[in-house]
Amino acid sequence: MLAPTSSAAGASAGLRDRHGRTATDLRVSLTDRCNLRCTYCMPEAGLPWLPRPTLLTDEEVVRLVGIAVRDLGVREVRFTGGEPLLRPGLVGIVEAAAALEPRPEISLTTNAIGLERLAGPLVAAGLDRVNVSLDTLRPGTFKDLAKRDRLDATLRGIAGAAEAGLAPVKINTVLMRGVNDGEAPELLRFALEHGYQLRFIEQMPLDAAGVWRREEMVTAAEILAALRAEFDLAPDPAHRGSAPAETWLVDGGPATVGVIGSVTRPFCGECDRTRLTADGQVRNCLFARGETDLRDLARSGASDAELADRWREAMWGKLPGHGIDDPSFLQPARPMSAIGG
Ligand code: SAM
Repeated sequence: MLAPTSSAAGASAGLRDRHGRTATDLRVSLTDRCNLRCTYCMPEAGLPWLPRPTLLTDEEVVRLVGIAVRDLGVREVRFTGGEPLLRPGLVGIVEAAAALEPRPEISLTTNAIGLERLAGPLVAAGLDRVNVSLDTLRPGTFKDLAKRDRLDATLRGIAGAAEAGLAPVKINTVLMRGVNDGEAPELLRFALEHGYQLRFIEQMPLDAAGVWRREEMVTAAEILAALRAEFDLAPDPAHRGSAPAETWLVDGGPATVGVIGSVTRPFCGECDRTRLTADGQVRNCLFARGETDLRDLARSGASDAELADRWREAMWGKLPGHGIDDPSFLQPARPMSAIGG
């Protein structure tokens, strides 16, 4: 069966795949650069950055997001990286996305460094929600894990996001064995005190060095056991939908904690994501081995309809699952920082 195209299926056909899923949630990476070096993501020395001419310009990003929203049924746009706050044009890109019809939900995944300054302008531009990565509350551990002494800056950024009205602030935490895996209850207490929503994410094989080992990964089951030593957790009756996090009511609620068991409890059957890298490549899965180039097609003068058709074709071939458990699994060539987490 061929991928449905605008000519074959009408201009309103969305990003369907042959396994019955439809992508409505777009992750857009705005840069592969980052000011932290979290060991599960990027080597301390950094990586060879994408050459500037290969990066989408602000106008190209806005054009492709517009096609996704207007022609392909995308309803939620999340800007990420690398570190998206490092993109000079971020506020303008958010503003342009917020002017689209139908108006998409706009969110940001960030390490929050500099967010206390940028949160106000981003909210004014139309940002709806923010997810901040915070793996530890201990300055020494932060420095060991992120190779930069920036815990204070991150905490200031998180507070700034809340002050700017980005509620609820969601916090993403990756636990690493022997590094910060003893901190799960401490992080949850911090989140409860401040009204932030905490979600633990299992470490995935997306590190630049390719040293991820399943046996060393802290599993969702271990995270829940560590939390249950101090908190009462009951399954959250709220419908999970396509959300990756399983959520639990903490001590009777209403506060919740989430666990994203990407590896041990995969949710590929519910996946509604499509991804655009900073250099204009569509990825139909975090773990995809192939990509579809929209940048050169756009630069060669393609129409919006042609770009939309190429995007549909890219999604039609999405595999049913990420296959981390298959013996034949191969880690993608791009690390997380260059895909956009
Ligand atoms: N710099 C931003 C940040 O820190 O949130 C956005 C990009 S970062 C790649 C997005 C998310 O991916 C972060 O929450 C980070 O913890 C997560 N991440 C990166 N590498 C990961 C890995 N190997 N396994 C699981 N999560 C990972």
